Amino acid sequence: MVWLRNLFLLLVAAVLALLVNALLGGQSGWWVFTFCTLALLTIHLRNLARALAWSQQLDRSPPTAAGSWGETLTRLHRFLRRRERELSESRETLHQWLAAAQALPDGVVVLDSQLQIEWCNREACRLLGLRFPADRGNQLLNLVRSPEFVVYAQSNEWSAPTVVPAPGSTELTLRVQFVPYGREQRLLVVRDVTQTQRIENMRREFVANVSHELRTPLTVLAGFLETLDEAPDHALSPEQTRRYLSMMRDQAGRMQNIVSDLLTLSTLESTRMALAPGAASVPALLASVREQAEALSAGAHPLTWQVAEEVDIEGVASELSSAFTNLVTNAVRYTPPGGRIEIRWQATAEGGAEFVVIDAGEGIAPKHIDRLTERFYRVDRGRSRASGGTGLGLAITRRVALRHDAELAISSELGVGSTFRLVFPAERRWPRFSEQAPAPQAPTLPTAPLSAGESSARKAAAIDGDTPAIAQPNGSELATPDAAGVDGQDTR
Ligand code: ADP
Repeated sequence: MVWLRNLFLLLVAAVLALLVNALLGGQSGWWVFTFCTLALLTIHLRNLARALAWSQQLDRSPPTAAGSWGETLTRLHRFLRRRERELSESRETLHQWLAAAQALPDGVVVLDSQLQIEWCNREACRLLGLRFPADRGNQLLNLVRSPEFVVYAQSNEWSAPTVVPAPGSTELTLRVQFVPYGREQRLLVVRDVTQTQRIENMRREFVANVSHELRTPLTVLAGFLETLDEAPDHALSPEQTRRYLSMMRDQAGRMQNIVSDLLTLSTLESTRMALAPGAASVPALLASVREQAEALSAGAHPLTWQVAEEVDIEGVASELSSAFTNLVTNAVRYTPPGGRIEIRWQATAEGGAEFVVIDAGEGIAPKHIDRLTERFYRVDRGRSRASGGTGLGLAITRRVALRHDAELAISSELGVGSTFRLVFPAERRWPRFSEQAPAPQAPTLPTAPLSAGESSARKAAAIDGDTPAIAQPNGSELATPDAAGVDGQDTR
């Protein structure tokens, strides 16, 4: 023990002083004792000074000191080293936790019992418009003021999350939830659910649209069936019965068209394009499109075709055929008799290819143009229905364009006409410039075009007042659309 050792040294000094005093007499004993005490004090003061100097730079080794000082300083040094190691390990763990919290896909805000911000990650800053560390200590509700959020935060009922608009943004929708933890602390978890909400809205809208589209023909059909069922014997003339049946067939055809186009769209949206590299033989498939357009127009429109036979692209013939057919039949359907329609298949200056349909029809007002490719969007619902339209043709065309890296460009002027362009990039041209592949011979006609093409043909039939039949490229007709055929062709 340090104090015992020092006491022992003082005792030795005292004994020495007594001995000297006994030998020499006078004050000599006191002198010796004073000298020894001063020497001991000097050693301690010197070591204290060294210890103080070392305390300024504790990362260095302790000074060499004799006796208890040396031992004390070495123990202190060891203790400090251990603490430092523990501290750096804790710091490392803390950094890892913070990095993990920063990497979370959700926003996280750590709040105290008064909802004052203690910490938040980057995603929380982005979603809630916070600034960290500038906002540390600020009341959350002073910074995020959307009424829905404030009501939720003050409700203290946080067992379920709630959906609120993001502060300062009309675009973002957030799902937020407070999680109590620790000593009255709160964790706010924020997730961007804009996309999910949008999909959910689209789904709801889609179901409502489909129900609405099918309800009208179903109601008509049910009405006729009731009339036929309840009419007393011989109350209806054969002529009336035939007319009713024809109208019922029209309505059934309309429902078939819708279901068939929906199946096509769903196939296009849900399947991966299995593309066997090779030409789609566009000039050849345009021959079939031309036949359908001419049948639909029945000579009512001057149709001009400019097809560059040497231009071809890599793609799925059945899908392309359906997209081209849609554009051409739309031009015929929405152009009054006598209106000029020009169809071109040509190379573009950028090395790609484009399919252009220019009509001198009724045109489309600018406010509709961006929405034309939405499902069931129609400028004139009555007119579209009267000509056998489902409102899905351009949605199918756009989807086919996407699957072929193409762009669907629409320009139109009311009363002047419209231009629809499907522009394929240079990478889609066939044969590819980089390859010296021979141009493919003997184009293979699509054996069963997608139902958009079918529905276009049915639209033709509807105009003529015929049965809603499906025109086949070989000229034959099917009485009903066949969904299996759609799948079989598209998912090839
Ligand atoms: P629909 O089956 O109704 O024709 P589409 O998706 O093919 O459905 O077209 C959507 C709408 O775009 C049509 O209802 C029509 O109002 C408008 N439209 C399409 N093509 C033309 C065109 N060439 N001229 C004028 N309007 C057109």
